[in-house]
Amino acid sequence: MLDVLIAGTGPVGLWLASELRLHGVEVTVVERRAAPDGRSRAVGMQAGTLDTFATRGLAQRFIERGTPVPTGHFGAATTRLDFSTVGAVHPFMLALGQSVTEQLLEEHAVAVGARVLRGEEVVSLTQGPDAVEAVIRAGGTHRTVRARWVVGCDGTRSAVRQAAGIDFPGQDTTLTGWLADVELDDPPTAPLAATGPAGSFLAAPIGDGVHRLAGLSTATMHHGTGDPLTLEEVREQTRTLLGRDLGIRNPRWLSRYGNATRQAARYRAGRVLVAGDAAHMFFPAGGQGMNLGIQDATNLGWKLAATLQGRAPDGLLDSYDTERRPAARAVIDNTRAQLALFAAASPEQIALREVWSAALTEPRTNRQWARRIAGFDDPLPVGTTPGGHPLNGTRLAGLALDTAGVPTAHPLMHHGRPLLLDLGRTRTPCPADGLEQRTGTVNAEVAHPIWRDVTAVLIRPDARIAWASTDTDAQRRAADCLTTLRTLCR
Ligand SMILES: Cc1cc2nc3c(=O)[nH]c(=O)nc-3n(C[C@H](O)[C@H](O)[C@H](O)COP(=O)(O)OP(=O)(O)OC[C@H]3O[C@@H](n4cnc5c(N)ncnc54)[C@H](O)[C@@H]3O)c2cc1C
Repeated sequence: MLDVLIAGTGPVGLWLASELRLHGVEVTVVERRAAPDGRSRAVGMQAGTLDTFATRGLAQRFIERGTPVPTGHFGAATTRLDFSTVGAVHPFMLALGQSVTEQLLEEHAVAVGARVLRGEEVVSLTQGPDAVEAVIRAGGTHRTVRARWVVGCDGTRSAVRQAAGIDFPGQDTTLTGWLADVELDDPPTAPLAATGPAGSFLAAPIGDGVHRLAGLSTATMHHGTGDPLTLEEVREQTRTLLGRDLGIRNPRWLSRYGNATRQAARYRAGRVLVAGDAAHMFFPAGGQGMNLGIQDATNLGWKLAATLQGRAPDGLLDSYDTERRPAARAVIDNTRAQLALFAAASPEQIALREVWSAALTEPRTNRQWARRIAGFDDPLPVGTTPGGHPLNGTRLAGLALDTAGVPTAHPLMHHGRPLLLDLGRTRTPCPADGLEQRTGTVNAEVAHPIWRDVTAVLIRPDARIAWASTDTDAQRRAADCLTTLRTLCR
C-alpha cells in the first residue's frame, strides 16, 4: 500500500512530492505524459514562490536559471508594480520557463526520494474507509494500486477531481488572448505594457533570447481558444497594439488562451484531495496560477504528512480547504478585474484603466498590489490562528535577523518543523517534541515596524506565522505558545 499517490508531474505535484518527502512520507507520482512536452505556459515565478523555495534552501538553483524582473503589471496598467517594495529576500519576479521549473522540481523530488512514473495515467478511483484504490493505465494495460491518500495535481481536467465527485463550478471561456514566444530583432530594453482603444499588449524576456508577447485585442478577443494563430497575425496585432512590430521572428510557440474560470467546490473528498489547476482555473493574468498552486502544495504537504503519521490534531487536514479556497477566490477576483482592464474598449472603460494607472503611482497602493501579485498579501482567514497580533496568519517573508547566526529566518526552516523564534530578551521555556527553537534579534533597520515589540513568533512549516507575541513574561508566553502548537501538531 502506498502512503500517497499523486497524479501529475506539473509544478504542483512535484513540489507536493518534495514537501511530503521532507517529512519522510513514501510518495509516488504518476504522470500521463511519457516525456515532458517542453512548452512553458508559466514564465513568471513570483517572489512569494522564491521565498517558499528559500525556506527549503532551493531558491538559488531557480534564480541561476532565470532572469530577475524588478517590476510587474496589473491589468497592463502603464504604471508598473515595483517588486523591490514587497519586503522579500528575492524582491523580483523571476522570468523562467515552466519547463525548466518542472525539470528542477523533478530533479529535487527524485533526489529526496519521490518515485516518479511517466506514461501512467489515473483513470478511476474507489474510496474505502482506510485506503483509495486507483486504476492506472500504462501503455495498453491497467493495474490497480492502493494508497492511503490520493492527491489530484492533474490539471484543469483532473480525472482525480471527477472520480472523487468534486464539483468544479464556474464559467466557460468568453474572451481569449494570444501569446507568442518569439525572438525579436528589436527587443524592448525592459518589460513593457501598452494599452489603447485596440486592446492591451505585454512583452517580457523569458530567457534563451526569447520574448513572450501577449495581447488581447478587442478585434479578436471573441476568437475561440482552438482558432489558429499565425505569425503574420501576431506581427499585425503587435503593430496595432504597440505601434511597431519589434522584428518578430523564429516563433517557438503561438497559442490562444481563454478566461474559463472555475474552482473546486471543496478541496477534499474523503481520502482524496486536489491542488493547483485541478482545484482552480482562471485567465492567466499577472503570472499567478502556478504560484498559487505551489502555495497549495506548501500548505497541504505538512498537514497530510502529520495526518498520515498520527501527529495531526483534529481538523488540521480540513484546514487545507478552509485556508486555500479563499486564497484562490481572491486570485480569481483579481484576474477578472485585470481582464476587464485588458479588454477595455469603451471610453468609460479606457478612462477606468487610466484612473487605475494613476492610482498605482501612489506608493502605498503600488506596494499593496505588488505584494498581492508577488503572493505575500494572502493572510489566512480571520480566526484561523489564535490571538490578536496582526502578524498572525501572515507569511514570514524575508524577516532579516541580526543574531541568530543566519541573515534571515529561511535557513531555520529547512527541516519543515514548527519553529519557535525568540526575539526578545528572554527565552520562552517551551520544550515540545518536534518543535525547533531558536533565538535571534530582528534587524531593526530593515524590518517592518510591526516587528518592533515582538518577543516571540511560532512559525508553521509553511512559513506562516501561527502566533506572534509581545508579552515579556516568558512563562505566559510559553503557555500561549503551547496552546497554539497543539493546533499544529500533537
Ligand atoms: C498562457 C498561460 C500563461 C501562464 N503564465 C503563468 C505564469 O507566468 N505564472 C504562473 O504562476 N502561472 C501561469 N500560468 C498558469 C500555470 O501554467 C498553471 O497554473 C500551472 O501549470 C498549474 O500547475 P499544475 O501542476 O497544477 O498543473 P499542470 O501544469 O497542468 O500539470 C498537470 C499534470 O498532470 C498530468 N495529468 C493530467 N491528467 C492526468 C492523469 N489522469 N493521471 C496522471 N497525470 C495526469 C498532465 O499531463 C500534467 O503534466 C499560465 C497559464 C497559461 C495558459
